[in-house]
Amino acid sequence: MTREGMIESLREKGLKVTSQRLAVIDILMEQRVLHPSAARVFAAATGRGYRLSLSTVYATLHEFSRHGLIKTLEFDQRENRYEMNPEEHINLICEGCGRISDYPVSRAVSEETLLADRGFRVRRTRMEYYGFCRGCLRGGSSRKPRAGKT
Ligand SMILES: [Zn+2]
Repeated sequence: MTREGMIESLREKGLKVTSQRLAVIDILMEQRVLHPSAARVFAAATGRGYRLSLSTVYATLHEFSRHGLIKTLEFDQRENRYEMNPEEHINLICEGCGRISDYPVSRAVSEETLLADRGFRVRRTRMEYYGFCRGCLRGGSSRKPRAGKT
């Protein structure tokens, strides 16, 4: 989604276009960090001179996610990450450095097929592969893969 698309979506959902929300959108649109945590968004925003608190960033991201503007990736042992990519894709999650990259895929089963076959209406999907990225496999990363993580 473009910045303008995001702003348009805010209006459609009845959310006011506040300076805080714009700041969060600007950081999310930068795309330098594809799957930021709230802390990362906060650090980037304050680094750019935006004035907003960490709790505002959390609340804003939660709100965007609740309204379907972005997607929340929840993890058991890591803080939530957020993503903007609306296309169908797998999240490749490195258990060494925590990097998450997107890998595009076509949907295994269409929502229409599931609805017809099982009467199941899909609301959201989540595709995650866990492993180690190239950098961690080569040992080039400063943070080595952690073994025995349960
Ligand atoms: Zn890695």
